Amino acid sequence: MSHQNLAVDVEAIRDEFPILEREFDGQQVVYLDNAATTQTPDPVVDAMSDYYRESNANVHRGIHHLSQEASEAYEVAHDRVAEFIGADGREEVVFTKNTTESENLLAYSWGLNELEPGDEVVLTEMEHHASLVTWQQIAKRTGASVEYVRVDEDGRLDMDHARELIGDDTAIVSAVHVSNTLGTINPVAELTELAHEHDALSFIDGAQAVPNQPVDVKEIGADFYAFSGHKMAGPTGIGVLYGKRELLEAMEPYLYGGGMIRKVTFEDSTWGELPWKFEPGTPPIAEAVGLHAAVDWLEEIGMERIRDHEQELARYAYEQLESEGDVEIYGPEPGADRGGLVSFNVEGVHAHDLTSILNDHTVAIRAGDHCTQPLHDKLGVAASARASFYVYNTREEVDKLVAALDDARQLFA
Ligand code: PMP
Repeated sequence: MSHQNLAVDVEAIRDEFPILEREFDGQQVVYLDNAATTQTPDPVVDAMSDYYRESNANVHRGIHHLSQEASEAYEVAHDRVAEFIGADGREEVVFTKNTTESENLLAYSWGLNELEPGDEVVLTEMEHHASLVTWQQIAKRTGASVEYVRVDEDGRLDMDHARELIGDDTAIVSAVHVSNTLGTINPVAELTELAHEHDALSFIDGAQAVPNQPVDVKEIGADFYAFSGHKMAGPTGIGVLYGKRELLEAMEPYLYGGGMIRKVTFEDSTWGELPWKFEPGTPPIAEAVGLHAAVDWLEEIGMERIRDHEQELARYAYEQLESEGDVEIYGPEPGADRGGLVSFNVEGVHAHDLTSILNDHTVAIRAGDHCTQPLHDKLGVAASARASFYVYNTREEVDKLVAALDDARQLFA
């Protein structure tokens, strides 16, 4: 079987995802929308359901047994995530709702307080709206300006342009690690180094990186790094903002309330320890348990193998689509700097129509601007179709995607 050539035992992995057995109109679902959200394996679902069945209580170290247990589980999840991304400990791992909230936390907490007129925020043309829109708004409110590192013809960052843009006025460089539209894996360590050479900070949007390849935040050198649980075999409702301890310590909280304070009087309040200072209110406890289980699950397979598997599938999809002749593919050629997704358009067929026809074949992909409207403007298209792969996908599923394109051509082209 062709599966045997792949980096992981896909058959065994698929057994842990009952949802992949689902059928619509007698056809088994082909799930290729993993950049939007990944499916959740049984061990993660079980960990969350065990938590609700056996340990559910509010955290913040209540006196009773259940609260002690819930608090322990919630705190240890921070340790596990810290270990997974190479952070120095739980103090550097703030749990949020998702990548978007992590970016907003940074932009409000650091950006709103630190940016001044004359400061520059350097983004890239392939940023997701989560960072692009957020920095635009914070820049407007602080008088800072926003600059964009160009994307070249091949779908890579123009690093000469980055070197031109990043200078003494740069306050922060905010770059996506892996583009959710082009699939490009960006040289984020190099961008961080450039930022640091000019005493600027670096923020990396790792929403499409942490789920799919080994990531070590200390190796990258990033000051801040964000990702979401639901794109890495974990639950929705939880995300992570990694930050260097001394930077997080110096930052003002972005949300206020219970659980994050040290001392409150009628006049004023002081803040508790990291990371709780940034996690007011009742946090996503079951979700933290699920994220912990997801990290265990991913590491048991191995992040290198997951990356290799996805890159092989993306290469196969790229080659199959390219050989069709009427398919335009965006982003770099398959290689070490391209991750596990392929965005494309079929000549004469709108991406939404294409996706709807694929849905008739129960092939699930996404059409739209993928929250990168300015990048789509630059590509000269309003929308693209995107197939994105995860560790449980197979070559046969790619074949089904490519075969279904014929129907779309017959109907629309
Ligand atoms: N950044 C990138 C690169 C993404 O792909 C996404 C999700 N599409 C986000 C940020 C936002 O993630 P979330 O919706 O989980 O906040």
